[in-house]
Amino acid sequence: MTSADPRSTRWAWAEIDEDAIRENVALLVRQVAPAAAWAIVKADGYGHGALTAARAALEGGATGLGVALAQEGIELRAAGIVAPPVLVLSQQPVEHFAAMVEHALTPTLYDLDAIAAFGAAVRNAGRTDVGVHLKFDTGMRRVGAQPSAAVALADAVRSEAPALRLEGVFTHLAVADEPTDPTTTEQLARFDAVLTDLRSAGHEPELVHAANSAGAVAHPHGRRDLVRLGIAIYGIEPGPGVAELCTGLRPAMRLVARAGLVKPVAAGDRISYGLRHRFEQDSVVATVPIGYADGVPRRLFAAGGEVLVGGRRRPIVGVVTMDQLMVDCGPVGDPVADAVRVGDEVVLLGSQGAERIRPEEWADRLGTIAYEIVCGISHRIQRHPLRR
Ligand SMILES: *Cc1c(COP(=O)(O)O)cnc(C)c1O
Repeated sequence: MTSADPRSTRWAWAEIDEDAIRENVALLVRQVAPAAAWAIVKADGYGHGALTAARAALEGGATGLGVALAQEGIELRAAGIVAPPVLVLSQQPVEHFAAMVEHALTPTLYDLDAIAAFGAAVRNAGRTDVGVHLKFDTGMRRVGAQPSAAVALADAVRSEAPALRLEGVFTHLAVADEPTDPTTTEQLARFDAVLTDLRSAGHEPELVHAANSAGAVAHPHGRRDLVRLGIAIYGIEPGPGVAELCTGLRPAMRLVARAGLVKPVAAGDRISYGLRHRFEQDSVVATVPIGYADGVPRRLFAAGGEVLVGGRRRPIVGVVTMDQLMVDCGPVGDPVADAVRVGDEVVLLGSQGAERIRPEEWADRLGTIAYEIVCGISHRIQRHPLRR
């Protein structure tokens, strides 16, 4: 008997469609031109695998990458992503600056102390002409400098020459996925005022950027020199308000498990912790070895969650447990239910036959956004990159 690696042969895994990511990026690249497209691969590529996502996005025409943390950028460099710029999207703790310089990560900065410290880190490394981006808070009120500080910050970058160069200036949109909300126009107007102030003080950043995925598809005025594409490259709509602008995108993650046990239950039987589901008829139940520790929310049962078995939508029955969930495959005597066998594929996200379950559907049911669904698929699920 050959021994199989239990991790790579576990009966629950995620298939990552590299072609989908590449083609989504290519579609968006055409849509936003002449703006460039940078692919955001933070949070392990929104759960798809950062390296897989980065490579596919670069093949699709992305010319830069973005991450949330210094560590995420370092991992990309260590994995062989050498040439493309990697922007760390928010200001990092000073103690990470030396490693960021060493790994050629582009910092986002928004205060005077950080600018001075980054300049010092660049000089300590014996480097010059390292591009930095300044981020301004035009209304999201999360991170970024106040617009009134723009000239002082840009002057501070200039005073760190030849170590530092002001490469980019950007902001982030709070409600780009709600195209009728006037806030986006107001944020872009505040951002334009920052750019005017900078230009009148003699600063000409090469890369001005504002748009996330929703901004890129719904607000052409927000595209500027580049757009920062996250969720859309994974084939997921940024929000219901921009769904009709995302119809060409293909979901890249398929979450699959195999039926680990198939058994009949009798009418009146109840199932799972709390015995909260009662069967109305004799039924075929499949127990599937994937649970909330893998990122399938426990509440998905109460929220009406379904999976695909035998090409049909079937309900999750009973609360999702840590490592397993149960599916009602149909009544005993139903030919499709009776045909379910141990080892059959059960699709949690993605397609099987003519049916498809999207992360947007889980998000709707659970009162969240699809971002949280795909980022929540845990490290216990191995990602299998697939390409044609
Ligand atoms: C995460 C992030 C993005 C990407 O947002 P999506 O909505 O996923 O496209 C862009 N810019 C910044 C600053 C971010 O933090």
